Amino acid sequence: MTTLRSRLSLTRGDSYGVLLILLLVVGSWLVVDFMQERDRITAERSWLAINKSQLMNRSFGDTFLAADYLLRDVLGRVDVAHDLAYPQPDAQVSARLDALLKEKVDTVTGLTDMVLFNGDCLFAATARTPARGTKSRQRFCSDGRVEPGQSLHIQYMPPASSVSARSVVLMSRTVGSPEGRLLAGAMVVVDLEYAQRWIAAIDVEPDDVLALVDSEGTLLARNPPLPEAIGQRTSPPPNEPPFSEVKGTATFTTTSPLDGRERIFGLSRMERFPFIVIVGFDRARVLSGWQHRAWQFGAGYIVLSALALMALRVQRATRRQREEMRQLANTDTLTGIANRRHFMDVADREFDRARRYGHPLSVLMLDIDRFKTINDRWGHPVGDRVIQELAQLTQSVIRGQDLCGRLGGDEFALILPETDSAGAQLIAERLRARAEATDTVRGDDGTPVRFTVSIGIASLSPEDGSFDALLQRADKELYQAKQGGRNRSALAGDLAA
Ligand code: GH3
Ligand code: MG
Repeated sequence: MTTLRSRLSLTRGDSYGVLLILLLVVGSWLVVDFMQERDRITAERSWLAINKSQLMNRSFGDTFLAADYLLRDVLGRVDVAHDLAYPQPDAQVSARLDALLKEKVDTVTGLTDMVLFNGDCLFAATARTPARGTKSRQRFCSDGRVEPGQSLHIQYMPPASSVSARSVVLMSRTVGSPEGRLLAGAMVVVDLEYAQRWIAAIDVEPDDVLALVDSEGTLLARNPPLPEAIGQRTSPPPNEPPFSEVKGTATFTTTSPLDGRERIFGLSRMERFPFIVIVGFDRARVLSGWQHRAWQFGAGYIVLSALALMALRVQRATRRQREEMRQLANTDTLTGIANRRHFMDVADREFDRARRYGHPLSVLMLDIDRFKTINDRWGHPVGDRVIQELAQLTQSVIRGQDLCGRLGGDEFALILPETDSAGAQLIAERLRARAEATDTVRGDDGTPVRFTVSIGIASLSPEDGSFDALLQRADKELYQAKQGGRNRSALAGDLAA
């Protein structure tokens, strides 16, 4: 019975642990699931950003393709050896070239000027700016070295270096000798205002960003516009390869140093030209739906967990209270041992069991001798302590399977399962002797209060129809013991007692 009870309470204790583990598992699963969903949303956005940047690249790249076509066309119509001399002795040649450039430059939108230059990088003809004789500041002009044959050069020029004093991109096609000496070249000027207008015409959501940079990371155009940042160098986050190494596409998430917002970036490089289009989506907005759901689930999870724990706690408290009440209802308040009702319940059960299986069973009835005198002499509280002392003493004498109960007043009863009359007599004698020897209860003046008990013993016999009958026999024996002079025990059927 003890084992069964402890196993039951173990299960009750475990229900807390099981619930906690369950909550932990569900919580971890939720966290992992939400993290995966966030990664999936971010990956989808990166892919979208790359796609958008590729589309923009194609549209912007058309301008450069057309411009390059013009450069090839013009170079094909020029006699590099004679037409580009500066100063040009034949004014008609210069006029023809100027007219040719003017006609060509108008055919491609976005071009602000077109120039022909000679092997010394001196402008021999211009479409719009009257700058004949000006020396170009393109990189290859410093040493006059280029690739043999035709080659393409693209360069950002800040306002301070450009002839037009504006931010421009120069795109040149040079002609080099087999030894790599510059012979001549044609150049178009793309005003960055054009690129800015082009990029500004594309719709962006608040806090998203579109940007055009050259392969060195120089910002050429941006939407939303940020004029003060044009011409400044930008770079990917430190753990990403620099823009110059981006061959196709790339993606990363980083915080912009320009406005401090975290964005999911996708970028792609133009197929034939050293430009990169960058598309950045505001991460907070992209993930706002996800974040909202995560908060909702998180809050729901916490509330449900708290409710489940609370419910479990209430259930345990109720169970404990019920157990306490049951204990209280079964316990004698003065001594803490079984009260009459509980004793009779247990005794009835033991009686039935012993009868069914033919096992021995004995009952003792105890009564303190001349207790009224103790009360009278020492007072009621001392009398109480004597009753408590006897209860304790009885508890220490019996075995785990026995039960002692206070039937009322100074009267106690013991039920002894698996005990025949000889065993019961032994216990009764032990009890009697212990009571007689006890001197732990003291009166108010410190004098030991001694007491003795009389005990009636009855053991189960076939004539006993109920536990009450057995108890009555023990009670009769108690009376006999009192009659016989007290401080003794009497056994039913034992005429010698
Ligand atoms: P006997 O040897 O014949 O048993 O004599 P007795 O004086 O003990 O007589 P009895 O058992 O009939 O008396 C019981 C007394 O115990 C009566 C009552 O005053 C007292 N009593 C009953 N309950 C309590 C209690 O809870 N505390 C105290 N101090 N006394 C109690
Ligand atoms: Mg008595």
